[in-house]
Amino acid sequence: MITVAFAPLTSTESLFMTSNLPSRVISFDTFQLPAGSPPVACVDIGGTKVAVNIVDEHGVRGKVTEPTATTGNPDALGRQIIRLIGQSCAAAGVPVARIARVGVAACGPFVLNQGHVELAAPNICGGQAGPARGLPNDWKTALLEAPLRAAFPQVRVENDGIGALEAERRWGALQVDGVPMAHCAYVTWSTGIGTGLCVDGHVLRGKNGNAGHAGHSFVVSNNDALCGCGNVGDVESLIAGNAIARRFAPLGYPDAAALFAAAYAGDAKAAALIDELCEIMGRMLYDLIVTLDVQRISIGGSVFWHHRDHLLPKLRAVVRGKMPPLTEGCEIVAAGLGLGVGDFGALALVA
Ligand SMILES: [Zn+2]
Repeated sequence: MITVAFAPLTSTESLFMTSNLPSRVISFDTFQLPAGSPPVACVDIGGTKVAVNIVDEHGVRGKVTEPTATTGNPDALGRQIIRLIGQSCAAAGVPVARIARVGVAACGPFVLNQGHVELAAPNICGGQAGPARGLPNDWKTALLEAPLRAAFPQVRVENDGIGALEAERRWGALQVDGVPMAHCAYVTWSTGIGTGLCVDGHVLRGKNGNAGHAGHSFVVSNNDALCGCGNVGDVESLIAGNAIARRFAPLGYPDAAALFAAAYAGDAKAAALIDELCEIMGRMLYDLIVTLDVQRISIGGSVFWHHRDHLLPKLRAVVRGKMPPLTEGCEIVAAGLGLGVGDFGALALVA
């Protein structure tokens, strides 16, 4: 069991309430495992950087970060992670041999090779999109789980959406009185759009661990919205943080922060654009609710979190009244772990 420094959620806030969940966000930096817990290594892999922390009964220590390895052989990323775990252990004063488990929350998509996760992320593997993408490698995949398993006794690799979901079910807004919810989803609205899904108490993984890529579901035929995955007109291409910058800079809003600032200052055009974004995200939430019959969805990510008081009522309004037998009583809330969801994601896989 994990010691938590805050009272568990008891809120039964519904879709139809306008208030936010209580903001009792716990801090990753001051988090500790219970006394006697062996140290675990927590690894976050993103398209641009990787981060490693060691967590044990003394807390979170030895944070190291580096740009994600994209040169050399296809095992370069796996070797980088092993090296960084060593550096993190040294900084934390923990012998590498004492690391009981390694949790890895990684950007997707994944492919499985003999049961081991390899990354097929278009922003890491140059062999996915070809030379036009400009990456300094021709990898079809980046080896990850196999080299880690050769170096450590216990390794768990999951999509970062699943890590965040597990963290929210453990310590955040997707638990009630410390009990993880059985039917729930986590959605990140950040640079990209990702989800983690849980039905009947089972976290959904799918044939290659890619369940939850709902951000790449098609919503419109829109020629100005090209996603990093190659799709034109999917959710991520239209509303993700990088899409807001790409689509609306020509309209005078260079990034999400500028768009929201304009709307708050009374700019009707900016406000209308935000309403359009919410219509798309709201429909994705509705699609998740009617597909999975979840009881609560928590939303995090920098775009959402910084503007949650503005966005949450709009998202609820999109869902409200549609197919009431399925949506009534389903709660849409802000992430209980706030911007720390990502940090807790890898820990939730091994703690
Ligand atoms: Zn996409």
